Amino acid sequence: MPEDSVKVAVRVRPFNQREKDRHSKLIIGMQGNMTTIKNPDAPGEEPKKFSFDYSYWSHDGYITREDGIMEAKPGNQYATQRKVFEDLGQGVLDNAFEGYNCSLFAYGQTGSGKSYSMVGYGPNKGIVPITCDELFKTISENKDTNKRFEITFSMLEIYNEQVRDLLAKDNPKGGLQVRQNPKLGMFYVQDLKKVPVGSYAEIEMRMEQGTSNRTVASTNMNATSSRAHTVVTIVFDQIFINENGEETKKSSTMNLVDLAGSERADSTGATGDRLKEGANINRSLSALGNVISALADASEKKKVVVPYRESILTKLLQNALGGNSKTVMIAALSPADINYDETLSTLRYADRAKKIKNQAVINENPMD
Ligand code: ADP
Ligand code: MG
Repeated sequence: MPEDSVKVAVRVRPFNQREKDRHSKLIIGMQGNMTTIKNPDAPGEEPKKFSFDYSYWSHDGYITREDGIMEAKPGNQYATQRKVFEDLGQGVLDNAFEGYNCSLFAYGQTGSGKSYSMVGYGPNKGIVPITCDELFKTISENKDTNKRFEITFSMLEIYNEQVRDLLAKDNPKGGLQVRQNPKLGMFYVQDLKKVPVGSYAEIEMRMEQGTSNRTVASTNMNATSSRAHTVVTIVFDQIFINENGEETKKSSTMNLVDLAGSERADSTGATGDRLKEGANINRSLSALGNVISALADASEKKKVVVPYRESILTKLLQNALGGNSKTVMIAALSPADINYDETLSTLRYADRAKKIKNQAVINENPMD
């Protein structure tokens, strides 16, 4: 079966106000596909080097237009939302049309730019909305009358190891149940709402609805940032009718995941309930780390058991990691010396993820 590595991208954002107030120094460098990080406590030391499939310099060299859209200053390297979409989102879209499952997930500490890349803010729309917009644009160009499209949208969050449906008015106490399909072996969320959508505007409306239902708990790191993992799933079906009236279906599941902050609980000053959340977030993320490590070992032909069952996140991402999916991970980086430890750990995490091999297949079947 053809194997496909997980594609890994890194993106470094501008200094935020807190970093500016503390006169932070830039410790990240990018040249071609190489990303470097300097240890601020060891100025004489060679910077550590990493290489990734894509690296995006979004630290400086931009102007903000009157309409709020950030653009590269002439002659500068600033990577815009559009650029990131063209590299990562367009690939997801192309694969979806071919009938592959696709996953895109963003990793990094709170405030590093995960949501900016995935969803975006205001006019600077991220990969998810642009991809959805382009999906419907491409569909509207279809002239083939023997082909129709069905799209469903769902949105959930994993918070304290419980699943909440972000499109539902109420969620059961203790969250929705995660079950395993006995035939296919895949995990799924029981009773999760999957709403049919017929236009980009409908998706946009559902995303807003879902976003407003998120659990928002503040930490010292970032007052508005969610401590939950957010998963948007779009199922894209293309139904073909042949001359005998028989139907076949190409189906692609797209998972778009904005992970909770990867920082350790102690670095955010969390105590009490917040600390419990931190511990659970770390359980899900450390389970993700264990799965990534196991898959990296598997790629070196070591015999391993991949511990998907350790957390809800890894159960739901099973296909995305080492399974039937084309997967992209975007690691969001702070540019500042004060975040050195967390940024280095993000780079190491991303480095391991490069080794994961998936076996994506086209999902094409007669209609049942
Ligand atoms: P996270 O989701 O990782 O907690 P956010 O995406 O909310 O972080 O980003 C934190 C802040 O940094 C936001 O104010 C966002 O607008 C800004 N930011 C993040 N990435 C970029 C970028 N590539 N270019 C410009 N601003 C960014
Ligand atoms: Mg966020």
